[in-house]
Amino acid sequence: MKKVMDLFFIAIEWMCRRNLLWWCGHRHVKGEYEIAILGVEGALVNPPMCPACMVRYYERYHTTCGTCEEPIFPGEAVAQAYRGAAHPYTHMTFECSPCGAFYCGVWDKGRLKSLVELERAKVAG
Ligand SMILES: [Zn+2]
Ligand SMILES: [Zn+2]
Repeated sequence: MKKVMDLFFIAIEWMCRRNLLWWCGHRHVKGEYEIAILGVEGALVNPPMCPACMVRYYERYHTTCGTCEEPIFPGEAVAQAYRGAAHPYTHMTFECSPCGAFYCGVWDKGRLKSLVELERAKVAG
């Protein structure tokens, strides 16, 4: 069974390299995409997945900022929220994290990637 799965992923990878498929398995269409996730608009440039799957991914794995209550998406840097905030993290911006707040790491797939992990990834990469 494992062999079959390996072959499956090799085939997907081959098609992704040739820009026929996205990683999510949907047919690849080149270009830039305007998307809106939870009311936040943005553009995707060379996304790893098709726009529909990227939106689903962001909706599933975002967290909420403890200051502005806007979503924080995977890949964004976060700071520690003040004590007693409704959510544990805030955006790493002047508006959302008052001075004195410290950088926590990067919000990843539904959880925080700590500085230790980021450092480890840097060493490994
Ligand atoms: Zn897709
Ligand atoms: Zn915020």
